[in-house]
Amino acid sequence: GTPLGTATMASSRAFFSSHSRRAFGVAAAAIGVPAALPLVAPSSWALSDAPPAEREKLLILGSGWGAVACLKNIDAKLYDVSVVSPRNYFLNTPLLPGVTVGTVEARSLIEPTRRLLPGAPGDARFFEAAATSVDAKNKTVVCRDESDVQSVNPEFSLRYDKLVIAVGSPCNTFGTPGVREHAVFLKEVDDALRIRTKLADLLETASLPGVSDTEQKDMLSVVVVGGGPTGVEFAAEMHDFLTEDVPKLYPSVKDKVSITLVQSADHILNTYDKRISQYAAEKFKRDGIDVITGARVLSVSKDAVCVMDKRTKQKRTKKFGVCVWSTGLGKHAFVDSVQKLSNQNRKRRALATDARLRVRGAEGVYAIGDCADVKSADSSNPKTKVVELVDMASDLFKQADTDKSGSVDKAEFAAILETLSRTYPQVRALLPKDDASLEKGDSHLQDIMDRFDDDKSGSLELGEFTKAMAEADARLSSHPATAQVANQQGEYLARALNEAARRKRRGDGDSDVAPFAYTHLGSFATLGSEKAAMELPGDFISTGFGTMVLWYGVYMSNCVSWRNKFLVAGDWIKKVVWGRDSSRM
Ligand code: FAD
Ligand code: MG
Repeated sequence: GTPLGTATMASSRAFFSSHSRRAFGVAAAAIGVPAALPLVAPSSWALSDAPPAEREKLLILGSGWGAVACLKNIDAKLYDVSVVSPRNYFLNTPLLPGVTVGTVEARSLIEPTRRLLPGAPGDARFFEAAATSVDAKNKTVVCRDESDVQSVNPEFSLRYDKLVIAVGSPCNTFGTPGVREHAVFLKEVDDALRIRTKLADLLETASLPGVSDTEQKDMLSVVVVGGGPTGVEFAAEMHDFLTEDVPKLYPSVKDKVSITLVQSADHILNTYDKRISQYAAEKFKRDGIDVITGARVLSVSKDAVCVMDKRTKQKRTKKFGVCVWSTGLGKHAFVDSVQKLSNQNRKRRALATDARLRVRGAEGVYAIGDCADVKSADSSNPKTKVVELVDMASDLFKQADTDKSGSVDKAEFAAILETLSRTYPQVRALLPKDDASLEKGDSHLQDIMDRFDDDKSGSLELGEFTKAMAEADARLSSHPATAQVANQQGEYLARALNEAARRKRRGDGDSDVAPFAYTHLGSFATLGSEKAAMELPGDFISTGFGTMVLWYGVYMSNCVSWRNKFLVAGDWIKKVVWGRDSSRM
C-alpha cells in the first residue's frame, strides 16, 4: 500500500504544529508539548529600530543545522550578520540517505544560504569560503576561498564582535587504511550522488553480456560500515530500491545484489531503546540484510573490506562494489585551532562550551551543533537543571563558606553538597554510593574531601572547591550530535544574542540570559518497506507502518522552507507513481 493519503494528512498536522519552531517535533506533533519554552519576552519595537551603525558584528561560521537555526532567529536590526561557509546552501541531512537511490532528489534537500539571510537584502552577507583560523585578540577570522574559481587573493579576514562556530564535524575513519581512497562517506550531497552514480554503473555493468556469476555478485555487493542511524537508514533505502525497482529495471541481476552491514557494537542502533534495536535487527534479518555485529573493519582496499570478529579475532574479507562508511564523527581542523588558542584539551573532538554555549577560554565566541560539546544531565527528567556548576564555582564557594573563613571545611562541604544535590543531578556522582547521610560526617565524606584537598589542609580552598565542582560536571553527558540538538542550540543562541543586544541598548548591563536547556523530542529511524521506529522521552516506543507515516509528517515539517517541502513531497509522489530513477548522469 502507498502511504500517500495518510502521509499528507499527518504532514499537514505535524507541519502546522511545529513549523514555526522547526524543531524535530516528534513529541510535539504527537502529544502537543511545546518544543521550546520562550526564552525571552518580546521587547518594544522602538528599541530594536536603532540605526544600523550601532549593530554589533555577528559572524556565523557554517550553513548547516546549527547555523541556519541561528540565522532564522537572529534579529538583523540588532546585529550586522555575516555568514561564512564553503557550502553556499543548507542541507537537510536526515533525508540524505534517500538521495543515494533516488527516493528524493538532492536539489529538494538544499536551500541557498543567501535565501536564508535575515533582514532586507543587503542587511546581512554571505561569503563562500572556509574559516581557517581565529585571532581572538583582534577579533578576526581568517577565511579562504576553496572553490575552483578563485580571485588573485583567495584569503581574507573578517572582524567580529560575536563569533558563532557551527562548522560541524567530519566523518571519522579511526585511522583505518584505505577508507578515504576506496569507501564513500554519507555526509554531503556529493557523497550521496557519488553512491547513486556508482550503483547505476554497477547495475548496468553487471547486466552486460559475458559477466560471470561471481563477478556479478562481487560487483553488486553493497557493504555498509557503521550500524548507527545513518548506516541503518542507508541499508534500508538500498533494500527498498532492491525490492521495489531493481526487479523491474534489472531483472537479470536482481538476485545477485547483497547488502552487508558491519557494526562494531553488539547491536545495530545501539544508542536507541533495546526494543528498537531488536526490532531493526529482526526486520533486517527477514529482509536478507547480512548484519555482522561485534566486528571491526581493519582495512579497505579497492574492492574488499577486511573484517575482524572482535571476540574470536578471526579475519575475513568481503568483496564490494560500493562501500559506505558511516562510523561516527571526527575532529574538524578549525576546531583544533580554536582549542589551541583557548587552551582547551585538544584530545577532545569538540569545543567545550559553558551552559550558555560560550566557548571556554575565548571571549565572545560561541559554538553550537556537532562541533560543540555541551553538557547535559539526564534528559529523561525534565525537572533537573542542566547547568554546569564550575561556571558558578566562586559564588557557590562563598555560599558554602558560611563562617567566612576563606575555606570550606568538612561540615560546610557536606551542607553545600546536600543542597546542590537537590537541584543539580551531577552532584550525586560525588556522594557516597550507598547514599549515607552526609550530616553524619562519615568516612565517605572524608574520602571525598581527601580527593580534592590537594594541600591536605583539612578544608577546601576556592581552587580545590572548583575542582570538585568540575568533577561533578564531568558526570554530565554530552548532547548527542544530532540535527535536533544543533537546531535547538541555534535557536537558543539567536534568542540569547538578541536579548543581550536589547539589554545593552536599554542600558540594562550584562545580566545573563537563562542557560541552554535541551528538550529531547524523540528520535526516529527508518527501516525500509515503509516501516520506521520511533522513541519518545518517557520510555515510549513505536514501530511499523504507522510510525513511518508519522515520520513522513515530521520530516516534511522539518524542511527548512516551503520550497523544500513542495520539492520533497513531489519526489515522494514521483517515487510512488513511477518508481526510482536509475539514470546514471
Ligand atoms: P552541519 O549541518 O554538518 O553543518 C556544518 C556546516 O559548516 C556546513 O555548512 C559546512 O559546509 C560548514 N563548514 C565546514 N567547514 C567550515 C569552515 N572551515 N568554515 C566555515 N564553515 C564550514 N540528525 C537528526 O537529528 N536526525 C536525523 O534523522 C539525522 N539524520 C542524519 C543523516 C545523515 C546522512 C547525516 C550525515 C546526519 C544525520 N543527522 C541527523 C545528524 C545531523 O545532520 C547533524 O547532527 C547536524 O547536521 C549537525 O549540525 P551542524 O550545524 O553542527 O553541522
Ligand atoms: Mg570561488
